[in-house]
Amino acid sequence: MSAPTLANSNKLVIPTATNMVGDYWDNLFTAKERGKQVVWYNGSAVNPFFQAAGLEWCHGEAFSARLAAQQLEKPAQLAGEEYGYIGELCSYARTHLGCAVLTKQARSEDETGIVGLVDQQELASRLPAPDFFVNAYAGCSTGQQWDEISYRVFGKQVPIFNVSLPFLPGNKPDAGYLSGEEWDQASGYVADQLYKLVEFLETMTGRPFDWDALRQNMSYIKRASELRREAMALCRAAPTPATYWDWIASIAHINFMPAGPELVQYFTDVKAEVQRRLDNSTAGVRNERYRLYFDGIMNWNKLGWLSRKFADADVAVVCGRYTHNAFWQEPHLIDTEDPILGMAQHYLLCPTNHGVKTLKYLTNRDCVDYGIDGIVFHASRTCRAFTNPQHLLAKSAQKELGIPSMFFEGDVADASFYKDEILESRLAAMLEGIDVRRSRI
Ligand code: SF4
Repeated sequence: MSAPTLANSNKLVIPTATNMVGDYWDNLFTAKERGKQVVWYNGSAVNPFFQAAGLEWCHGEAFSARLAAQQLEKPAQLAGEEYGYIGELCSYARTHLGCAVLTKQARSEDETGIVGLVDQQELASRLPAPDFFVNAYAGCSTGQQWDEISYRVFGKQVPIFNVSLPFLPGNKPDAGYLSGEEWDQASGYVADQLYKLVEFLETMTGRPFDWDALRQNMSYIKRASELRREAMALCRAAPTPATYWDWIASIAHINFMPAGPELVQYFTDVKAEVQRRLDNSTAGVRNERYRLYFDGIMNWNKLGWLSRKFADADVAVVCGRYTHNAFWQEPHLIDTEDPILGMAQHYLLCPTNHGVKTLKYLTNRDCVDYGIDGIVFHASRTCRAFTNPQHLLAKSAQKELGIPSMFFEGDVADASFYKDEILESRLAAMLEGIDVRRSRI
């Protein structure tokens, strides 16, 4: 196994980035001390509702990913295991359920739910206990069960609201991406539930919901998303000025940071930096020779490792399903005066919530737009929702575009499933194949 170097990768540096995310979590850890109500949620980005309702919010996957990225996930996973969850259960859910167990323990030791010194176990237990849960999970049934179990961990005393997000098979004759009867019906069905979610929040907070605040939040999010998409589009250039790993590094911002001028400023800075690199011919990977698409949810334990690994092989990973087809990715759908329908539509647009026909369309479209040479499939061991259609996508890209692909195993938040030798040998084989193909043209 060879350790990747720093020599060839050239990641975007946005000075405000780390502070925003770190400040957000620090703020959440002190929520109870400040007398705030806390909602735990997972799945779609329903946080603009929470912000408008004056709540603090914890996204379950985000906290699991944060622990994994800091290599601090083990105590929570062990607590989950002791509670009875096997290693094949989604490692986001497993980690966060372990956090629930540790938070519950911490709460019985300390009325505030906050514990003192930050060692590994304590970081996992620092989440303030939830006042209620909201579930809005598309394309995977784990989310609902995860909240159901969290509800049990907290003694069945914490209310849950579930937004039901129907899967979009996309197999009716008129069905297309963002179009057709199925799309219109599902959009209306989810929008109706969002009004019910507002009523639930009013009951939980004892206050009227602030609709003006929601409109304002969504205007910031819409602008941030437009800037993000414009910056992504600049990466069609070869060599690409920024890579997939840069978009991964800004997932937290577009997914669950508070909406506000800072969020817009952050993506203004990202776009300006990508443009500056383009103008100065500064590449995201210094010797870009191959451009790849990444399919699969992120392997958070290995984020830096993977970005350097690919760069060492002169590979620019340019775009991917997780970054480019999720997270407010169609900002034109948001009407800032009346945002509910556009929000409902984004919650349906989770990249695990489409049938294969739409996924093929999105993948092949991005491969063409970004001049992709091959696809890397991260077959994440415990996230079947992402892994299920991958062989069909690989076949489709090969047949329709002549693009080869490779698979490697890993996981969202459990490092034990990642095998470096497999990634290395399969990547080398695919790059050789791309070289042979080029030599024949
Ligand atoms: S299995 Fe995948 S899609 Fe489902 S909850 Fe886990 S990470 Fe999310």
